[in-house]
Parts: sequence; structure tokens; C-alpha cells
Amino acid sequence: MSTNRTFTMIKPDAVENGHIGAILEKIAASGFKIVAMKYTQLSLREAQEFYAIHKERPFFGELVEFMSRGPIVAAILEKENAVEDFRALIGATNPADAAEGTIRKMFATDISENAVHGSDSDENAAIEGSFHFAGREVY
Ligand code: GDP
Repeated sequence: MSTNRTFTMIKPDAVENGHIGAILEKIAASGFKIVAMKYTQLSLREAQEFYAIHKERPFFGELVEFMSRGPIVAAILEKENAVEDFRALIGATNPADAAEGTIRKMFATDISENAVHGSDSDENAAIEGSFHFAGREVY
């Protein structure tokens, strides 16, 4: 995956609360092009693998239970400076600290159920994109 791409998930809370359409609209309006997308659900094991980097953190169990409890939308997004710009668009991890107009401010519930994922580096964007998509699913 080239460095102008990032990976996102619309998390189970935002799907349950009916925010898929509004979040995708905001992503598109912010200049991101969707180059891969699927509606899917992580098994508990897959969530543990995806979030392995956090396995020592006290909230790991809660995080993987949450991320596997219902369907998500996974997508690869393209834009110049994608990783940084998408992190700015989603806002702080805790929606209470997120800036006005950010996706987490608008749609997240709390620090654990925070509506969207956004990769934190080009390297992780490539790893996370490959976790969810085969090469032929990326356009
Ligand atoms: P992000 O990069 O902004 O998503 O934040 P982190 O990499 O620090 O954390 C990954 C994810 O773990 C967050 O998006 C939240 O879903 C979850 N998380 C972070 N902090 C907490 C916490 O204190 N408690 C719980 N239950 N979940 C958390």
C-alpha cells in the first residue's frame, strides 16, 4: 500500500447507532477516496490479532469484546497525507477531548466505544489494510 493511503473501521457502536451513512459522507466530503470497502465482523480471535499491539494494556479484553460484538465497515482510503489528515478528521481517542466537527466528537459514545479507527502510521496502515483485504479487493 502506498503512503497516501490509510485504513479505517466504522466500529460496532457507530454501526449499531445507524451512523454508517453519515460517517462515509463526511469521509468523502473531506477528500478521501474509498479504494477498498467491506461490511464484515471480526471474530474474537481476529480482534485479538488485529489489536495485538495493545495486548498488555488494561483495557485489551474490553476492546476485543467490543470490536467483535457486531458488524463493522472496513475501508482503505486514499488522499495526500492520508494517515495524518484522517487522524485529524476523526479527532482524539476520547470524544470528550475531540475537537468540534470531528467524527468522534459527532458520533462516538466514549473513550472505548469511539465510532471509528484510523491507522497511526503508514506502516500500520499497510499492515491493517492487508489484514482485511486481498490485493484484488483494493482498487
Ligand atoms: P486510537 O489510536 O485513537 O484509536 O487510540 P489507541 O491506539 O490508544 O487505542 C485503541 C483503541 O482502544 C481506542 O480507539 C479505543 O477503542 C480503545 N481504548 C483506548 N483507551 C481505552 C480505555 O481507556 N478503555 C477502553 N475500554 N478502551 C480504550
